[in-house]
Amino acid sequence: MAAKDYRYVVLGGGVAAGYAARAFVEKGLGKGELAIISEESVAPYERPALSKGFLMGNPPARLPGFHTCVGSGGERLSPEWYTEHGIDLLLSKTVTQVDPATKTLKLVSGETVQYDKLFVATGSSAVTFSDLGFSGADYRGIYCLRNIQDAQKLYDAIQAHKGKEAVVIGGGYIGMEVAAALVQNQVSCTMVFPEAHMMERLFTPEIAQFYEDFYRRQGVKILKGPSCKSFVGNENGHVTGVVLTNGTELKSELVVVGIGAKPNTKLLEPFLKMEQRGFLVNGQLQTSDSNIFAIGDVATFPLKMYDNRLARVEHVGNARQMAMHAVDVVFGSQKAYDYLPFFYSRVFDKSWKFYGDTPKDATCLVFGEMNPKLFAVWVRTNGQVVGTFTESATPEEEKKIERIARERPTVDISKLKACHTAEEGLNFFS
Ligand code: FAD
Ligand code: NDP
Repeated sequence: MAAKDYRYVVLGGGVAAGYAARAFVEKGLGKGELAIISEESVAPYERPALSKGFLMGNPPARLPGFHTCVGSGGERLSPEWYTEHGIDLLLSKTVTQVDPATKTLKLVSGETVQYDKLFVATGSSAVTFSDLGFSGADYRGIYCLRNIQDAQKLYDAIQAHKGKEAVVIGGGYIGMEVAAALVQNQVSCTMVFPEAHMMERLFTPEIAQFYEDFYRRQGVKILKGPSCKSFVGNENGHVTGVVLTNGTELKSELVVVGIGAKPNTKLLEPFLKMEQRGFLVNGQLQTSDSNIFAIGDVATFPLKMYDNRLARVEHVGNARQMAMHAVDVVFGSQKAYDYLPFFYSRVFDKSWKFYGDTPKDATCLVFGEMNPKLFAVWVRTNGQVVGTFTESATPEEEKKIERIARERPTVDISKLKACHTAEEGLNFFS
């Protein structure tokens, strides 16, 4: 079979792929120049919808409603859009081999595809307890959440489980968002995680306390400290409970696991320089092979605004921006990628956003009774504001905290500390 030859190939069909496609078309892409190869059976979509609108709502979100690029307020790129723009969307095609020397990709079907420039956008996979070799981890009824098939299976299980008990393992993003979806679907839920509080990587104890109290008021039970040790099941191979490291067994036939993600880098690890489990890229998002760009979850890049400290970021805003930046580079831009770290989540009627950095030497000052609004800033000892957080802010306030985090003003800490409410804290900054 003759190899199909493309000027540009995006390996992976997730968020970064969708935003790259749009950027290519905006720049002036010739028909037949771009192929997107994805092991998923559907065109690129906004993955964040899977733990939010897909599991909830009446009716819940379904494709084509959340194809990229609607997540950032853009045009929805339907499968037809790719055809109209002469982009070959090769779906349900897993790439099994990449040979950078001959610029060739091999697909599971045996077909080969050649590229001039390759964009690696293979994202991440969910870490599972099977990966970690835990006993009983393969019982039916244990779910992870990474792609639309996972989300459909979880949705169906939730519908069949109304009025019963579920266990959510993990106190990070998936844990918090899925626990919220469960109770909103009338499924009782216990969250179990080993850390001292929810979202330990970002939240301070004070911020976490607000969300934990709120979750408890919604009926979520929270077990902090113990981790999962093993799973028990019945003779039909279905899970019946989770055994914790403290010996407790939580009985449940629905278990959701959100214990982190692993970047999908296996195919190119032997060929490219790696850092922080991702492909090391420069400011132009080129890997150690200048014909291969890495974008999204798999890329470890210099954070220009933090003295080029290296970071790998598993969040949608970064995937979107990296995709657009890499396309700009292909079309001649020499600008270095300049990412302001940004994380957000929406749970129940709550919505938080964070911008910037939380270095160890920064203190977090929290303003407001968090009822409903909260504003927090991370301030270094020299008064420089480096990180900003809001809960239930207006769009203007959210823009303001983004600007503060980017500008990093130096403030008089004692004057800032005199502010009490979220509004006073926000108004302190011009
Ligand atoms: P992905 O979107 O994961 O896409 C990777 C694609 O590559 C997939 O289509 C995959 O099937 C394909 N692929 C992998 N290997 C191969 C192969 N060998 N051959 C062919 N195709 C392959 N971030 C936020 O900031 N906010 C949120 O609210 C948020 N919610 C999320 C909710 C969920 C349930 C999940 C799972 C993630 C969420 N994220 C969120 C994270 C965000 O979705 C990711 O950071 C983002 O999708 C990364 O984009 P990507 O293009 O790098 O990878
Ligand atoms: P996270 O890394 O956010 O959270 C993992 C959680 O699981 C942590 O609380 C972790 O604790 C805990 N954990 C790890 N191992 C165990 C264990 N053996 N037993 C019990 N708990 C354990 O990953 P998620 O799975 O929540 O998210 C997966 C991916 O999806 C990430 O890339 C994330 O960015 C993305 N995502 C982002 C969202 C958003 O931005 N709003 C929403 C949903 C997903 P510890 O830290 O101690 O290891």
